[in-house]
Amino acid sequence: MQGKIIKGIAGFYYVYVENKGIYECKAKGKFRNKSIKPLVGDNVMVDIIDEEKKKGNISEILERKNQLIRPAVANVDQAMIVFAVKKPNPNLNLLDRFLVMMEFQNIETIICFNKTDIGDDDYMNQLQTIYQKAGYKVMFASATEEQGVDEIKKMLKGKSTVFAGPSGVGKSSMLNALTKDYKMETGAISEKIGRGKHTTRHSEIFNIDSNSYVFDTPGFSSLFVPGMTKEKLQYCFPEMPQYEPECRFTGCAHINEPDCGIKNALEQGKIARERYENYVLLYKELEQLEKNKY
Ligand code: GDP
Repeated sequence: MQGKIIKGIAGFYYVYVENKGIYECKAKGKFRNKSIKPLVGDNVMVDIIDEEKKKGNISEILERKNQLIRPAVANVDQAMIVFAVKKPNPNLNLLDRFLVMMEFQNIETIICFNKTDIGDDDYMNQLQTIYQKAGYKVMFASATEEQGVDEIKKMLKGKSTVFAGPSGVGKSSMLNALTKDYKMETGAISEKIGRGKHTTRHSEIFNIDSNSYVFDTPGFSSLFVPGMTKEKLQYCFPEMPQYEPECRFTGCAHINEPDCGIKNALEQGKIARERYENYVLLYKELEQLEKNKY
């Protein structure tokens, strides 16, 4: 039988099989020799051991579309990062870290600013300008007032979306608003595996409708993934590489060099100062990390 891993805890994988339910599985198949670890999001084949107790073995992992390192999940189409416009105030450095990580892994990201009901209009416009200039799709919503939720639902339709953001920004409220109708129709699959509030230590998947999935993932802020270097950082800021040909020096880091295309674009307001400053901070952080390695 084919199913999808919706959660993994302590050596057990919870596999959802459509129209049958959730099976508690162990990984027993031949793929174990190939050192492929099952990931949340994997489509797998399951051998049922006990139908009544809903237990089975994963015998095969079907081919992955892709696989992320952080969060460690498989078969992702896009990401949505949620921040509040207020309470807590958005930490744009953390937001940029997340965006960098997703760019590095070639995952398109939508930014969702929640709690518009308590937000200040000028500040919300400023946020929109910063991130639209960088080429991102920016959405505004209020989960508790259910504003903008339908538009978000449209963005998620038919896709598997990594959902992330710091705690307190309204992720759970948003997930509830997004899954409300579907839960009423089907009975939530996730409730059976006992998801409590603020327990996101493992990644897990929710259905928004039958072919739309959301990965709820634990927060992360480290830039430390294999292969990430300070030289590659600029390519994780999508608004920057277009100005690189105007730099006098090849290999320009866009920090102290004269005649730099990126700094010119910054002065002309084509690149947002907040983004550039975070680029410099992250660059220095990666530089320090690299120095510590040797
Ligand atoms: P999470 O930690 O990101 O999952 O955040 P929660 O969904 O638990 O929400 C944190 C707090 O923010 C709760 O008190 C929510 O009621 C509140 N909250 C969530 N969404 C909104 C919103 O759109 N507007 C306002 N004013 N408060 C919200």
